[in-house]
Amino acid sequence: MFVRTGITMSRIVHWLLLLISLTLNLTSCSDRSSHSEEMPDTVSFHSVDLEGKIAVDTFYSGLFKPQPVPGEHDWLANHHEEGETFGQFLSSPRNKLDSSRSKIYILPMWNFMKGKSPSIELLRQYTQAYFAISVKTLPPVKPSTSLFSPRVHHDYGNVQVHAGKILSYLLKQIPDDAYCIIGVTMMDLYPDPAWNFVFGYAAYQERVGVFSFSRFDPSFYNEEDTTDHKLLLMRSCKVLTHEIGHMFGMAHCTAYHCNMNGSNNLQEADAQPLHLCPVCLRKLQHVTGFDIIKRYRMLESFYGESGFTEESKWVRSMCEFLGREVEGRR
Ligand SMILES: [Zn+2]
Ligand SMILES: [Zn+2]
Repeated sequence: MFVRTGITMSRIVHWLLLLISLTLNLTSCSDRSSHSEEMPDTVSFHSVDLEGKIAVDTFYSGLFKPQPVPGEHDWLANHHEEGETFGQFLSSPRNKLDSSRSKIYILPMWNFMKGKSPSIELLRQYTQAYFAISVKTLPPVKPSTSLFSPRVHHDYGNVQVHAGKILSYLLKQIPDDAYCIIGVTMMDLYPDPAWNFVFGYAAYQERVGVFSFSRFDPSFYNEEDTTDHKLLLMRSCKVLTHEIGHMFGMAHCTAYHCNMNGSNNLQEADAQPLHLCPVCLRKLQHVTGFDIIKRYRMLESFYGESGFTEESKWVRSMCEFLGREVEGRR
């Protein structure tokens, strides 16, 4: 039963993330049936003329870390998940990326106030570097909010719109060559009259999702706080790529501390890295076929320009590690 007031932040986030997982026709995060013991689980180096696994080496070189022991409000303390091997990923149902449906589309909805919103162009650039496929931004739309059952939030007094009705709207906007379309908004969302809010809502098999970044700005909760632009951009990048990762059929990761880990609250999400672990990287590489080093270089450039110092350092270390591996195997 949902409690509207007095609910803790972590509880709210728990519900909203759970809701994303329960959307009709969505890709389940944990139900995977078959398992191949033969399948190497981690990314291979065919794109840099190497075969093999990097997990053990990179794990011990400190580039990938195990997931921290979950606190009582964290995702794994509240959800039983066994993770997903590469073999399980291959046999799981997902939409196919092919030449006729090859692009990710981002549709900005309503206002993105300068100084209070993440840059749509930066989000597009990041998503393109991360998935290494073409990402297009559609012209922003401002449909009448009356079409989306608007309501005023009882605590914050802000206008919220119905997330499910946005998905119905997006279904009619999918371009012919889209792998998926993602509505993004600074409008707060709710999925059901009994619910407080949701960060996002998606129907993975239908290839539509909507995500609100409004609550990623600390000033949403306390108007005296100033907007933390870097944090707002980082959180937005993280949620966008995590959720699009689900659209590519990737389940939550339990192998490492990774962008595909589930998260129950902002604190837990903030502690998670932007990068993918070797298992999830292999899944994504299988789908989009990128060159590992070229992708890392694109991400490094984005991180450098965005002031994401830690991630920038991590990618540089990763590229140095890969360079040594390439040299060492010649
Ligand atoms: Zn997720
Ligand atoms: Zn992972």
